[in-house]
Amino acid sequence: MTLVLPEWLLIAADRPAQRSWGVRVVGDVIDEVGPRDQLLASYPDDDVVDAVGHIVMPGFVNAHVHLYGTLAHGIPPVAGDGPDDFWSFLEDYWWPKVEDALDLDMIVAATDYVCAEMLRSGVTTFYDILEAPNALPDALLAQKEVVERRGMRGLLSFEATERAGPGIARLGLEENLRLIDACDPAGLVGGIMCWHTTFTCSADYITEAFALAGDRGVMSHAHVNEGVHEGRWAEERLGARTVEFYADLGVAGPRFLASQCVQLSQRERELLAELEVRVSHMPLANCEVGGGIALMPELIDAGVVVGLGSDGYVNDFYEVMRGAFLLHKARLQDPGAMPAETVLHMATEAGAQALGLEHIGRLEPGWSADLQVVDASFPTPVTAHNIADQVVLWRNHSDVRDVMVAGNWRVLGGEVLDADLDQLRARTREQATRLWKAG
Ligand SMILES: [Zn+2]
Repeated sequence: MTLVLPEWLLIAADRPAQRSWGVRVVGDVIDEVGPRDQLLASYPDDDVVDAVGHIVMPGFVNAHVHLYGTLAHGIPPVAGDGPDDFWSFLEDYWWPKVEDALDLDMIVAATDYVCAEMLRSGVTTFYDILEAPNALPDALLAQKEVVERRGMRGLLSFEATERAGPGIARLGLEENLRLIDACDPAGLVGGIMCWHTTFTCSADYITEAFALAGDRGVMSHAHVNEGVHEGRWAEERLGARTVEFYADLGVAGPRFLASQCVQLSQRERELLAELEVRVSHMPLANCEVGGGIALMPELIDAGVVVGLGSDGYVNDFYEVMRGAFLLHKARLQDPGAMPAETVLHMATEAGAQALGLEHIGRLEPGWSADLQVVDASFPTPVTAHNIADQVVLWRNHSDVRDVMVAGNWRVLGGEVLDADLDQLRARTREQATRLWKAG
């Protein structure tokens, strides 16, 4: 039994912060929250983690990451002019230079390094999407081993696709199933069924994947309208826009996570809300690929559950939060758009909901003991009314002191336990060099 006793306790994004409150952790869950003195008096024999001068708040949920994406940071540009739209970004660069050239050693190195990097920035749960057609089979099982060793809560998936022929298409679905079947439902690692998009997967293939997910009681996931390309393609080739097509197919619903959702029609936005489709938002990566700015405040107002993700681009979750916090204010010319509390909610509980996970993202009794201890020495006073703004705007990964996942400390004093970051980084750089030569 452990008492974690900070200066400020942020139980959840939608609750006022409590000064001099703490949490009691028993096993892998939060047992009790309350005033510091009361907890100390009630549980004199518990271990005490003193976090005076710090904020304790829920761990982050990175609802969409490509762990292997790190290997592509700074990759030499493609010959010629380089990608000039989203389609050529995929076809001329991302597929041939990165995803098709990935092998197991590269994937394992990136997984290990990025898991440590995410832990360091307060992320306790993540959802990874791997597309590496030439690393099949066994890529997901290799990743599972790494994530379990790091002690993170990770949902893994392979982005199944028909773009590389029927053999790879089959292997992709099987890879997801083998991972899902290999995971202990009570464990930290699980699986999600995943296919790429409507422009690389047929209706029959998507229907089959969705049914297989239903059989196993797991969520399904696809990238949806990351730029203007997919919606237009679907209109021309399928006679309906992407979300309309998914609705007709019976896929769009609460068991479907539609990530990106950058370029939606009015009708598609209405359908996401009506059918309770889950959504994840990647503000910084949307900028990177020139996809546009997703209408997330509008979707949230319509009642859609929206999580936040790094997309494997900038993985420091404080940076990702700032992207979500600032981008929509500029677009809407409204400083009140996307308040810090909403961003924190997306980064915690809503992210877990988007992934179909329960009792994750709040520090309430019975909820998972996934938390972070963050330095609270700001140059201006912290108050209950400004704490969300202080955290979202003025903290970085380097301010995270300790991180707990399911009752176990994974970061202490800013050090990721059992991880030599220099060595993990060096191994990743070695594998990135191989990838750059291979692609
Ligand atoms: Zn993505």
